[in-house]
Amino acid sequence: MAQAEIGLIGLGVMGSNLALNIAEKGNRIAVFNRTAARTKEFYAEAGALKDQVVPCETIEEFVAAIRPPRPIIIMIQAGAAVDQQMELLRPHLEKNDIMIDAGNANFRDTMRRFDALKDSGLTFIGMGVSGGEEGARHGPSIMVGGTEESWKRVEKVLTSIAAKYKDDPCVAWLGENGAGHFVKTIHNGIEYADMQMIAEIYGILRDGLKMSADEIGAVFAEWNKGRLESYLTEITAKVLAAADPISGTPMVDMILDKAGQKGTGKWSAIEAQNMGVPATGIEAAVAARSISSMKGEREAAETILGLPDVPELKVADRAAFIKDLENALLAGKIGAYAQGFAVMAAASKEYGWNLPMPTIAKIWRAGCIIRSQFLDEITSAFTKAPDVANLIVTPAFASMVKETDGALRRVVSTAALSGLPTPALASALGYFDSYRRARGTANIIQAQRDFFGAHGFDRVDGADSHHGPWGSGLNA
Ligand code: NAP
Repeated sequence: MAQAEIGLIGLGVMGSNLALNIAEKGNRIAVFNRTAARTKEFYAEAGALKDQVVPCETIEEFVAAIRPPRPIIIMIQAGAAVDQQMELLRPHLEKNDIMIDAGNANFRDTMRRFDALKDSGLTFIGMGVSGGEEGARHGPSIMVGGTEESWKRVEKVLTSIAAKYKDDPCVAWLGENGAGHFVKTIHNGIEYADMQMIAEIYGILRDGLKMSADEIGAVFAEWNKGRLESYLTEITAKVLAAADPISGTPMVDMILDKAGQKGTGKWSAIEAQNMGVPATGIEAAVAARSISSMKGEREAAETILGLPDVPELKVADRAAFIKDLENALLAGKIGAYAQGFAVMAAASKEYGWNLPMPTIAKIWRAGCIIRSQFLDEITSAFTKAPDVANLIVTPAFASMVKETDGALRRVVSTAALSGLPTPALASALGYFDSYRRARGTANIIQAQRDFFGAHGFDRVDGADSHHGPWGSGLNA
C-alpha cells in the first residue's frame, strides 16, 4: 500500500474536517486519535474518501504509514496537551520529520517548541488555521510559521486544501518559528473587534431605533451587498433572520447576552501592549466580552444606577442615519484592521520575521472568519506600499477615512447622548483623532512626569534644557 503523504493526530471537530479535506484533494493521509474508538468512527464515516485514509490505532503504525520526511499535523486542544502529544511522538520520528501544531497555540509556546527541536534534526511548524469547522472541511485560511525547508515539504498539500480567493490559495509561509501563530492570533484579535463593532451597531438599531431582529437583519443583508460585504456581515444578517424553534420569536432575542472567549483576543491585546502599539479596537472588544460575562453585576447595577437619564434616540432622517451607521462601521473596521496590521509590523521587527503584509491580507480574503472584499482593498494598499507606517495613511485608506469618519463621529456622539455603549467604535474615533493630530497633549504629561519624577523632556525648539523650572516641586 502506498505511504501517506501526511499524517494527522486529533480527530476532533477541526482535525476530522481537515483530514477529510486533505483526503478529498487527493492526498493520502494517515490518521490517529488518542481515543482509538474515535479513529474507527471517523474511518467508518469517511465514505468515498476511505481509500485515501489510513486509520491507525498505535503511534508506531501511524508513523510507519507516512512517507519520510513525515509532516504530522497535530490538531488537538491547545496548551499542555500539545506538549504531551509531542513527547509521545518524538521517540518514533526520524531526521527531518516535521511536527505541525495546527491548533490555536499561543505563539510564545510555538517559539519554545520550535527552539526545543532546533538541534534535534526534527522540525516544528506552528500553523494557524482559520475558518472553523466549515473552513477546515472545504478550505481554511492557513498561516504557516517554520523553516522555509519544512514549508517546501508541506506546501503542495496545504495549497491543495486551502481556501481559494478567485484562483489564489489562502495559504502562505509567513516566516520562522512563531510567525504563523502570531498572525493567527492577530487575525482573531481583529475578528473580536469586527464582531464587537457589529454588535454595537446592532445595539443602536435595536435599542436606539427600536427595530426588530428581522428589520435589522434586512439592514445587514443590504449592507452585505456593498462595501461591508464580508462573512461576518453575511452571518449577522442570517442569525437575525432565524426564528427560535421553541418560542417562534427571533432566535437572537432568546440568546443570553454573555459572550465567551478562549484567549486569542486577549493575547492580541497583551502583545500589542508589550510592544507599545495601540490596538484600542481589540482591547475594547476584549473588555466588552468581559463586561458581557458579568451578567449578574450588570443586572444589579441597572437596578442601582438605572439606565442613563437621557432622551431617547430621535433621528430626523432615519435612512440617512442608517447610512451613517454603515459608514461608521466601515470606519471602525478600518481603525481595527490598521491597528492589527501595525501590531504585526512591530512584531515582525521584534522577532525578525519579515512578515509580508500584502500576503497576510491576501490569505485572509477567503476561508477565514474575517474574510471580506475589504481585505482585497487592504491587499492592494499594502502591495503598493508594503512598508507604510499605517494602513490609514495609504492613499486609498486615507480617502476612505476622510469619507467615513464624519459618520463615525455622528454615530458615536449620537449613541453617547442616548446612553448607548459603543466602546469599540468610539475607540476607533479616538484613534483617528489622536493619530492624525501632529500636536497632541503629551507635553503636559511630560511636564507632570518631570515635576514629580525628574524624568526630563524633549523641547520643541531643540534647546539643551530638559527640566522644567518647577523649583521645590522636583521629586516631591
Ligand atoms: P475538539 O473537537 O474538542 O477535539 C479535541 C481533540 O484533542 C480530540 O481529538 C482529543 O482527543 C484531542 N486531545 C485532547 N487532549 C489531548 C491530549 N492530552 N493528548 C492527545 N490528544 C488530545 O477540538 P477542536 O475544536 O477540533 O480544536 C482543536 C484545535 O483547533 C484547538 O487548538 C482549537 O483552539 C483550534 N481551532 C478550533 C477552531 C474551531 O472552530 N473549533 C477553529 C480554529 C482553531 P480525544 O478524542 O482522545 O479526547
